[in-house]
Amino acid sequence: MNFEVDNRGFYGEFGGAFIPEMLHANIEELRSQYLLIMESADFKSKFQALLRDYVGRPSPLYLAERLSEHYRTNIYLKREDLNHTGAHKINNTIGQILLAQALGKTRIIAETGAGQHGVATATVCALMGLECIVYMGAIDIERQAPNVARMKMLGAKVVPAHSGSKTLKDATNEAIRDWIGNPVETHYIIGSVVGPHPYPDMVARFQSVISLEMTSQLMEKTGSSNPNAIVACVGGGSNAAGAFYHYLDATDVRLIAVEAAGRGIDTGESAATSVLGSKGIIHGSRTLLMQTEDGQIIEPYSISAGLDYPGIGPLHAHLIETKRAEAIHITDQEALQSALQVARMEGIIPALETAHAFAALNKVKFKASDNVVVCLSGRGDKDLNTYIKKLLPNE
Ligand SMILES: *Cc1c(COP(=O)(O)O)cnc(C)c1O
Repeated sequence: MNFEVDNRGFYGEFGGAFIPEMLHANIEELRSQYLLIMESADFKSKFQALLRDYVGRPSPLYLAERLSEHYRTNIYLKREDLNHTGAHKINNTIGQILLAQALGKTRIIAETGAGQHGVATATVCALMGLECIVYMGAIDIERQAPNVARMKMLGAKVVPAHSGSKTLKDATNEAIRDWIGNPVETHYIIGSVVGPHPYPDMVARFQSVISLEMTSQLMEKTGSSNPNAIVACVGGGSNAAGAFYHYLDATDVRLIAVEAAGRGIDTGESAATSVLGSKGIIHGSRTLLMQTEDGQIIEPYSISAGLDYPGIGPLHAHLIETKRAEAIHITDQEALQSALQVARMEGIIPALETAHAFAALNKVKFKASDNVVVCLSGRGDKDLNTYIKKLLPNE
């Protein structure tokens, strides 16, 4: 079995670049250059220096003793929540801003739903002194006011998308329209392992620092560079791709991908793409997505804005289809309870997205001798209002 992208951008039958003719030149420039740039000594030294001195890497691998005792196995947390800006997304935006500079780009565009990717993009644009335009659905701008404020503080221009449902897919359409209109000086920073080739592979490579660090950290702590299992939540799939990357071919390492079931898989309010999705094309990539019989995208639902995406990256579609990865589904309620458990047992308030990964520990059987890594993709400060409302209404 092969889990590498092929030269046309496919993972098995998933991936590719299904784009309008007018985007061809932009995507082709990126496709022909990304590996050359990423593998150059100059790029590598800049990327590594920023990950170390600006992001704060390597992120610790922490043996969570009380959780381990509770679940009767050895649970290690890969602490992406300790990165600058509080999540794994900065690994990718640092990589892409350096790539944009190497390509001579002076203007950055992005789209964001929850605003987390918008903040990570605005951060690196401020760092490099580049113009930053973030497209965001008008409804999301209202729902995510604190992140909009952060982006503005960082100097980004936040442009509302007023079309359609006024959410992520409408913001994506606006961003694509902008890129078609400004192909020469603009780079489009996509925030997960989604979109047309080469984005899924490029973003997975930037995030692969997560599993690269895990190999030596596990060796030091357990005497083996391989864990028995890796658990990560999947929205588009970038933190999971990064945590799985160096273990894709190590078939004795279980890869556990955790999707948001929302109010439940059968309720019509869910984001469990691997169960509810079917094959089709979304955002330029052939993958699994939630769609009606005539191909209209079904609005996903999850309490966590970062998992509320109607598709899944093509790598994950391939991993699940070939059974290399196991897919687990966690409801809003299960995720909330796990967030509280991790807060009270480890003194760590996880992001709501990450809480889904923790909740999967209740659904999978591990041996007492197993070493299990949970990718702690982000911190929960942004979700405190939800936690207070749903978990602590009377405290
Ligand atoms: C955005 C986000 C996610 C989901 O995105 P992926 O690309 O699937 O990783 C998960 N956790 C946190 C903390 C996020 O901010």
